[in-house]
Amino acid sequence: MASIDVLESFEATHPDIRLLRPEDEGWATRRETRGRAGQELKPLGTSSSVDFTVRSGGNDFYGRYVVDDGLIIDVRELNNVAISDDRQTASIGGGVTARSLASQLEDDGYICPVGNTGEIGYVGWATLGGYGPLTNKLGMGYEGIVGAEVVNARGEIVQAGEEMLEGIRGMGGNLGVITKLIIRIYPKFQLLSGMVMFEANPENVHAIVEAEAELEVPKEATMHYFIIDAGGRSVAMSFTWASDNHEKGKEFLDRLLTRLPPPKMNMVASKSLVGYFDSVRPPCLPWGCQRSIYVKELSTGLINILMDSLKVIPPQVNIAWSMTIQAQRAQSPPNCFGAATHMLLSFSDMTSSEDALAAARSWNDELYTKLRGSGDEALLDGSYPPLTRPADRTAEQLFGNKWPRARELKETFDPENVYKWAVPRFAA
Ligand SMILES: Cc1cc2nc3c(=O)[nH]c(=O)nc-3n(C[C@H](O)[C@H](O)[C@H](O)COP(=O)(O)OP(=O)(O)OC[C@H]3O[C@@H](n4cnc5c(N)ncnc54)[C@H](O)[C@@H]3O)c2cc1C
Repeated sequence: MASIDVLESFEATHPDIRLLRPEDEGWATRRETRGRAGQELKPLGTSSSVDFTVRSGGNDFYGRYVVDDGLIIDVRELNNVAISDDRQTASIGGGVTARSLASQLEDDGYICPVGNTGEIGYVGWATLGGYGPLTNKLGMGYEGIVGAEVVNARGEIVQAGEEMLEGIRGMGGNLGVITKLIIRIYPKFQLLSGMVMFEANPENVHAIVEAEAELEVPKEATMHYFIIDAGGRSVAMSFTWASDNHEKGKEFLDRLLTRLPPPKMNMVASKSLVGYFDSVRPPCLPWGCQRSIYVKELSTGLINILMDSLKVIPPQVNIAWSMTIQAQRAQSPPNCFGAATHMLLSFSDMTSSEDALAAARSWNDELYTKLRGSGDEALLDGSYPPLTRPADRTAEQLFGNKWPRARELKETFDPENVYKWAVPRFAA
């Protein structure tokens, strides 16, 4: 049967599921399906020519929640949050965003790891890695997953066992549509958080890298750095202290700042997690993407390449790096996240206009080629799947030493590659 006939016959037999076509009113904004959509729609994927993708927050930089002539299973209505009786975990819907989750938990006196932006879908974020302002204290998103409900490749709704969970922690939607996650939660605390801005020059970048290496960074502190275009280039340190003991947080920040040149601006203040989302509003730049490379450290060689690229950096695009992320720690659950301890280095070609995209892309391509071509010992082979241009890395490179296990789990749970459009892509 042709794709459109399959869809029409499906629509006729499932009146409770709303199917929108591009010409329908509300196409851009409506939710296409409801709770059991994954299960109901699965036969379309296996027994017909209909390609389908899953969409929650819709923040994949490379737009991989949509495929040409395919069906989008929109799970945003699966957005409920329920705290367990023992108050250690919460069950969250497969389409909940970080802001909605944080705000519902906050009302009940709890908090959990999240990304830097409230609009990110929690499942898309956590199952592919999940960096954020609480990472050093509470771990990455994938580390907080303790259970899942999944529509598997046979179209059955199942509770994930230990093996499937191992895959869900790093393999995104490769094993099925995740209708629920069970995640660890923690008693809520107030953050001490905000941006500290410095002039963007090589001396300051070296000073920041050295200060962090010299200091013992307490687990409450998470730092992420951006070279941004804010009326002239600045290095912005996003600082978060994840504990109610703000005196201790201020002491650590002071120790860090005494090693650095005087900042242009210091916006660190007490706020809730939802307040944090309100304070971090990245500019909406519809063109371009964010690309990444994992590194062991920001070596002098890498800093020199970045600083050279800064001399010709186009407007709006950014360079960013994380503090050292302790991944695969002793307490990390079994997982398929492809990196051990690393720093996430990223750089965008994002702009507000299509006209500016070509220049931004060419700058980005040149920087990527110089970094990868430098052979610097600090470079690691992998990169962050959501921030990886599809042609840059194979699934094998992205999963690193987790590749044999990831492939085995894919073979076990989705041998026919029903979920073939998931990120990262296994060969078709
Ligand atoms: C502005 C912005 C800021 C960001 N900040 C951070 C950050 O601070 N830290 C960080 O780690 N990352 C960050 N990212 C990257 C982001 O976390 C990933 O791109 C993430 O995968 C987006 O998830 P989503 O649900 O919003 O997007 P979507 O495009 O809807 O989903 C992303 C992927 O996950 C799959 N997926 C989503 N939900 C399900 C489900 N229920 N079942 C099965 N598969 C599913 C989709 O099919 C798709 O492949 C940021 C991205 C943007 C655009």
